[in-house]
Amino acid sequence: MLYIKRDDLIHPEVSGNKWRKLRLNIDQAKFKGKKRIVTLGGAHSNHIAATAKAAELYGFESVGIIRGEDADLSNPTLSFAQSCGMQLLKISRSDYRNADSWDFKDWLKERFENFYFIPQGGANFYGVNGCMDIMKEVMAEIQPDSIFVSCGTATTMSGMVLGNKGGCKLFGVSALKGGDFLLKDIGKNLMSVYSDRETTDFAMENIKLLTDYHFGGFAKLNTELITFMQSFYSETSIKLDPIYTAKTAYAMVEMAKMKHNKNPEKWVLVHTGGLQGIKAIEKRFQEKIY
Ligand SMILES: *Cc1c(COP(=O)(O)O)cnc(C)c1O
Repeated sequence: MLYIKRDDLIHPEVSGNKWRKLRLNIDQAKFKGKKRIVTLGGAHSNHIAATAKAAELYGFESVGIIRGEDADLSNPTLSFAQSCGMQLLKISRSDYRNADSWDFKDWLKERFENFYFIPQGGANFYGVNGCMDIMKEVMAEIQPDSIFVSCGTATTMSGMVLGNKGGCKLFGVSALKGGDFLLKDIGKNLMSVYSDRETTDFAMENIKLLTDYHFGGFAKLNTELITFMQSFYSETSIKLDPIYTAKTAYAMVEMAKMKHNKNPEKWVLVHTGGLQGIKAIEKRFQEKIY
């Protein structure tokens, strides 16, 4: 039996796991009396779109630092962000790579005052913590054998591992090529909470990272994936996004095919949202997906 955790329905614009990762960050920004939120992302980033909307909803000014001087500020994602009042600033890819550095933080402080900083993808302590709720909500309804979730930074998956009290198997599907490093990142996130190697290793035993379903790399796709999305939609009336959830659902179906266990199992697919990304892909391929 397959269940789908519909986090895509949380909010039409602050979708899915982005809402989970922003919630406690917004609380912190309020608590610290900040006036604006500064974050960063790529030109089609779901996180930029979600942060712009969340900032507007909660009465913050917002600034989005966008990767690449060639980014098109009038694309669907960035137009939307600006319509929410987000101020956008492009920086070079090399500067963007240094966004974790103190120099970069100093540069931000020179330009903007009284701001709360959220890293790319909402990948911080509060982001991880917000995602524990996904697991709590799933466990309150059903006790699944396996759960499948998409990974970009694996912040969402890290939170779910922390929230996994029932020992169910957690499959993370990497949206990027060469996603093996994500396992280390999950380990780091767990260590920073548990501060204990044994507890971390124990929690890591219940997870598996699937790294072969990236379809060529981040934001890459082919007609096979598009056909899969269309047939998934015609069977379930549920839209998947091409960057993350389609690849995860595809991986899950492949895993189901490989399984020879006769006992029926309960599986959950976490629909992390991201549907705003469809427009850009349709534009790129000059073809409607749905
Ligand atoms: C951003 C995003 C992800 C990746 O989440 P991480 O916490 O960075 O792993 C997964 N699914 C969707 C739809 C997203 O927008």
